[in-house]
Amino acid sequence: MKVEALDSSVVQEPPRTRGDTTDLQRHRHFPVRTCVGCRQRVLNGELLRVVAVAGRLVVDEGRRLPGRGAWLHPTPGCLAKAERKRAFPRALRSQGALDAARLREHAAFATPTVLATEIGSGTSPDPQ
Ligand SMILES: [Zn+2]
Repeated sequence: MKVEALDSSVVQEPPRTRGDTTDLQRHRHFPVRTCVGCRQRVLNGELLRVVAVAGRLVVDEGRRLPGRGAWLHPTPGCLAKAERKRAFPRALRSQGALDAARLREHAAFATPTVLATEIGSGTSPDPQ
């Protein structure tokens, strides 16, 4: 009869796998940020920093503006997701609504009309 040596003092913890944080965590000197749109954790070099200036969302091109910043993939899809989830006021601790018009005009989010129809339904208050 085979008896397995089970030491009760050794508690086997499940491996800590939260999502797909692969080898990003091993490089802790690389700043990792969470995209407020898709919630993916990526190196912040891949994301745009968005800040609120006088109630308007703007892209912090130089990443030097003071205050809180929200990080976002430079893709229209992530911008749409972030807006739908109201992620910007939350990330930036803003009391009121934030105007994202300037963001949509930014080159990174300017959508070709083909893509605009894909993400447009239900996300924009404009009846267009
Ligand atoms: Zn994203």
